[in-house]
Amino acid sequence: MLQHALLFLSLLISALLVRHLHELPLAFRPQGDVHCYGSIATLSASNSVYAPGCLRLTRDGRFSSVFSANEEELRRKEKQEGWNIDLTGHALPGLWDGHAHLLQYGEMLASVQLHDARGFTEIHALIGAYRQLHPGAGSRQSWIIGMGWDQSHLPHGLLPSAKDLPADLYILLHRIDFHCIWVSPPVLSLLGPQIPAPPEGGTIPSAGVFCDNAIDLILPFLPPPTKAQKKSFVLNAQRKLHSYGMVGIHDAGVVQEDRELYEEMAETGELQLRIYAMVECRIRNSFCPEEAKKVEREDGMLIVRSVKLFADGALGSWGAALLAPYSDKPSTNGTMLLAPSLLTQLTAQWSAAGYQVNIHAIGDAANRAAISAIASARPKNVPSPAFRLEHAQIIAPEDQRKLPALGIVASIQPTHATSDQFIAEARLGKQRLAESAYRMKSLLQAGVPVVLGSDFPVEPPPALRGVYAAVTRRDPATGRWVGGGNGFFEEQRLTVWEALSGFTRGVAFAGGASDEAGAVEKGKWADWIVLDRRVVEDPKSGWEWLREEEGLVRETWIRGKRVFGRTEGEASAGISFELA
Ligand SMILES: [Zn+2]
Repeated sequence: MLQHALLFLSLLISALLVRHLHELPLAFRPQGDVHCYGSIATLSASNSVYAPGCLRLTRDGRFSSVFSANEEELRRKEKQEGWNIDLTGHALPGLWDGHAHLLQYGEMLASVQLHDARGFTEIHALIGAYRQLHPGAGSRQSWIIGMGWDQSHLPHGLLPSAKDLPADLYILLHRIDFHCIWVSPPVLSLLGPQIPAPPEGGTIPSAGVFCDNAIDLILPFLPPPTKAQKKSFVLNAQRKLHSYGMVGIHDAGVVQEDRELYEEMAETGELQLRIYAMVECRIRNSFCPEEAKKVEREDGMLIVRSVKLFADGALGSWGAALLAPYSDKPSTNGTMLLAPSLLTQLTAQWSAAGYQVNIHAIGDAANRAAISAIASARPKNVPSPAFRLEHAQIIAPEDQRKLPALGIVASIQPTHATSDQFIAEARLGKQRLAESAYRMKSLLQAGVPVVLGSDFPVEPPPALRGVYAAVTRRDPATGRWVGGGNGFFEEQRLTVWEALSGFTRGVAFAGGASDEAGAVEKGKWADWIVLDRRVVEDPKSGWEWLREEEGLVRETWIRGKRVFGRTEGEASAGISFELA
C-alpha cells in the first residue's frame, strides 16, 4: 500500500513538474540533467560520434555518460523526464584558447579600435567618436587607450610619430602586435625635454613610438585601471567569449594583482570562464616565487602552476630575435629581451620550484635559446608537460628535430601564420620562410604536442576562425593567401579534427588537465557547445562557414550550466537554475 502511495505521489509530482516545465519561459526552464542533440562529436582519443546522442551530467557539473538514442525514445523522455532535446543542434566539447590575454581583451573592448583604420584621418575620426561616447577621456587622469594600428596602413608604410596625434590629448595606442606603443605629444612630454635613450631590449624608432623594453619608459606614467574597471574588463570579455563557444583560456601572463582578482571572482562565482594562468612577475623575466602562489581550484575555474618568460619581441616590428639578419633590414637581427644565460638560469630556477615554464619565442635565435635553456633544466614535481614554446614561430630545422625528445609543447596561433603571411617573406626571405616558419602539420607529424590559440586580443578570439586558418592556411578575415597553391604553405594544413583537437584536447594536455577537460567523456567537466551544423570533412561545402565572426555558436555550457544562448540574446545569457 505504501509502495502504491509513493508511486502515485511520484507520478503526481512528475505530472506537475512536466506541466510546470511547459509554463516556464524558455530562459528560466530548469535544465534537466540529460541533454540530447542531432549529433555529438566527443573529440576524445577515439573521437566517437553519436547521432543523435545524449549527455548525462553529474550534479557537480561533470559528464557521467554519453550515449546514442532514437528520436522516438527521446520525444518520450522529453515529455516524461524533462530531458533537454535539440535535434537540430550539434554538440562539440567547449573550445579553449591555448594562449590569450583576458584582461587586455576586456580592455580592448573598452578602447579605440584601430584595426580597420587606414591613414591618419580615419584614426583621428575614431578618436573623436570615442570622445563623444566617453566625455572627459584624454585627460592626464584618464588617457585614451587604443589598439590595432599597423604602419603598413599608414602613409608610405612609415612609422608614425607623436605629432601625428592630437596635441591636446593624452593618448596611448598599441601596435597590432602589442610590441610597440605610439603616444601623443602630451604623453611624450612627460619624459622631459629630451627623449631618453632606449633601454636594452627596446627601441624608439620614431619620436613617439616605443617598442619592447622601451615601452617601460612610458608605462609608469599611465594611470592604472581601477579594480572595478578590471572586473568589468573580465566580465565583458567572458560574455563575448562565451558567444564564441569559449569555455576556458590559458592566460599568457598574469601578474599577482590580477591573479588575486581572478581568485576573488572565482570564489564569488562571477568568473564563468576557466582560466589557466601563467604567472608573470612584476619585473618581467625574473624569479618571483613570492608573487606566484599556486592555485588549483576543485571546480577547475582557476589553475595557477606555470610561469611565462619572454625571450624576444615580434616579427612585425623587427623585434623577433633571428639567427641571421632580417632580409628587409640587414642592419638588425632583432632583439633578445634577455641574455640566453639568464634565460637558462630562470628556466632552471622556475622548473626546480615546480612550475611549468612557458617561453615566448618567435625568432629562430629566441627559440634556440629557449630550447637550450629547457634542455639543461631539471624540473621537480612539475605536472607534465613541463615546458612550452609560446608561438614557436620560426625554428631552425635542426632545432625542430630536438623538440620531441625534450617533450616540449609547441603553442601555436594558426591566425598568426595567416596574418603574417603578407610580410613574412619580406622579413625572412624565401628559404628561411620555407624551412623554419609557421609549421604546424610537420611538427605534429614529428610527434610534437601542439596546442592552438589566438593570442587574443592580438588576433580576434573565435577559435572556429583559428580552425579555419589551420585547415585552409588562409586569412579568415578575407579568405586570401599568398604564394599560390591552395593556401599559405598548404602542406602545413591540419585536418579539421586535428585543428579542433588543438583548441580542446591539446589545450587540456598542455595545461596538465587531460583527465579533466578537452573532450566529451565520462568524468570530465561538463563543458560543451552547440552549433547549427555538424562538422564533417566535406569538400563540397568547404570551410568558408567557419570564417563567420558572429553567430556560429548556438549555446555554450560550462559545468553543466548554460552561459550563452543565442536565441535568448546576450542579455539573458548565463541565467539558469537547477531543481533543488
Ligand atoms: Zn601573447
